[in-house]
Amino acid sequence: MRPEAWLAREVAPGVTLRDLAWALYRTGAYRPPTTEIEVTALRKIQIRTAESLGKGLSRIVPRMPYSHGNRKIGDIWSFDLPPVLTCPYATFCGRSGPQGLYKGKGYVCYDLNTVRYSRQHLLREYLNYIHIVKEGYEWLSGWTKFVVHNRGTRIIRLHVGGDIFSAWYWDFIKRLAGEFPTTTFYLYTRSFPIIAASPERPKNLVILMSLDAANFSYLYKYGEYFDNITYLLAGEEAEAQIPLIRKAAEWAEKRGKRLVVFLEHSRRKNLINKIGTLKKYICPNEVGMELTCEKCRICFTKSSNPP
Ligand code: SF4
Repeated sequence: MRPEAWLAREVAPGVTLRDLAWALYRTGAYRPPTTEIEVTALRKIQIRTAESLGKGLSRIVPRMPYSHGNRKIGDIWSFDLPPVLTCPYATFCGRSGPQGLYKGKGYVCYDLNTVRYSRQHLLREYLNYIHIVKEGYEWLSGWTKFVVHNRGTRIIRLHVGGDIFSAWYWDFIKRLAGEFPTTTFYLYTRSFPIIAASPERPKNLVILMSLDAANFSYLYKYGEYFDNITYLLAGEEAEAQIPLIRKAAEWAEKRGKRLVVFLEHSRRKNLINKIGTLKKYICPNEVGMELTCEKCRICFTKSSNPP
C-alpha cells in the first residue's frame, strides 16, 4: 500500500482520512494564529469538525501543521508533506514491490514507515499539502511566524516526510527563509533538477543533496548547487557502494562541503563494520552517540575546511 491508499482508508464508517482532511480544511481549523488564545479556538474547531464525522476521531487530529522535535532531533520544529506523493525524484526509498529495496516487505524511507502506523502523522502531512496548494505562501508564512515568534524556534527542518515537489513550492521555501533571516532552515532533497534550475537562496537556508546508489551519478551534474552532501548506504550490495562513498568524500572535501553518511537501519551494525576509515563520515547518531541534531549541527552548518 502507498500513501494514496492509506488516505483512502476509512477512519469512521463511510469517512476516509482524506474526507477528514478536507472537512478540516473547509472549516478553517488551521488558519494561522497570532496568539495562544487563537490556538485554543482552533483546537475547538478541529475537535468539533472531527467529532461531527465520527465519534473519537478528534484523537487523530493534529494541533498544528508544524511538529516539535523528538529525542533524535532535539528542539527543532519540522514541517512535513506526504511522502511519495510529493517526492517526484524518489529512488528506491519510496518504492515497494520489486522496485523497492525490500521487494514489497516495507520501505527504506523513515517517514513512509511512520505513516503506515500513524494516521495522525499522515493526516498532518496531507493537511499541509492541501493548505500549501489551496492557500499558498501566506498560510505557510503565517504558521512559521507563529512557531518562530510565539514558540521561539531557531531551527526548522523541512520535509522529514515529502520533498520539493515543484518550482513554485521551491520559491515558497526560499521566500520563507528570506522572511525569517535569524531562523535556520534545512532540508534533504532528491529534487536535484528543481534546485539546479534556480539555485540562488538566502544563507540561512541549507540544502543537502540526498544521494544513494540509484542517483549517485548526479553528484557530478548537480552537486555544486548544494551546501552539503549525504549518502544513504543501503541494500544487499552495500559493500560494493563503499567506493562511491570514498568518491563522494573526496569530491565534497575538495569543494569545502560536508559529507554525511546514513545507514539502512536494519543493517546498521554490519555496515559499520564494513565501512572502515570512512566511518568518520557517518552521522554520530547512527554510531550510537547520544547527540541530538540540535547539538550536533553537522548537517546544517558549513564545513570548517573551505577549499
Ligand atoms: S549528522 Fe548530526 S545534524 Fe545530521 S542527522 Fe546526524 S545527528 Fe543530526
